[in-house]
Amino acid sequence: MTYHFRTCPDCDDRAYDVAAKLASEAHRGEHRAIRAREIERDLDFGGGDGRRAREIVEHLRAVHRAPICSTATNGAPGFFWPTSREDTEHTSAAFRSRLGKMQATLRGFEAGRDELWPAQDDLFGRGVSRG
Ligand SMILES: [Zn+2]
Repeated sequence: MTYHFRTCPDCDDRAYDVAAKLASEAHRGEHRAIRAREIERDLDFGGGDGRRAREIVEHLRAVHRAPICSTATNGAPGFFWPTSREDTEHTSAAFRSRLGKMQATLRGFEAGRDELWPAQDDLFGRGVSRG
């Protein structure tokens, strides 16, 4: 499998470095997970808060189909390269859980929005004074 980082218009050398680091032997398996801010520190980039590394990981997963896993433990998540299909199951489950919560949030938000217009005047069971 080839990930084609070099020809991606949205990838820079940092994305390639992050991919190479995570796919290396040093980060294979959950016990070798590394936090986003540690990736930035090791590769000497980003603001040190891990945000840029997390954005790159998201891009690598979404666009380049890199199966980068997140650790199952609570707290700041670490990233690692899976050594088996079982390694990937927690990450898949976490994505599905977040997706389900976001779907419920979106449904509630849009239902509320749709009730707000055109009936905003009845928001509190009575007409809203427009002074
Ligand atoms: Zn890319």
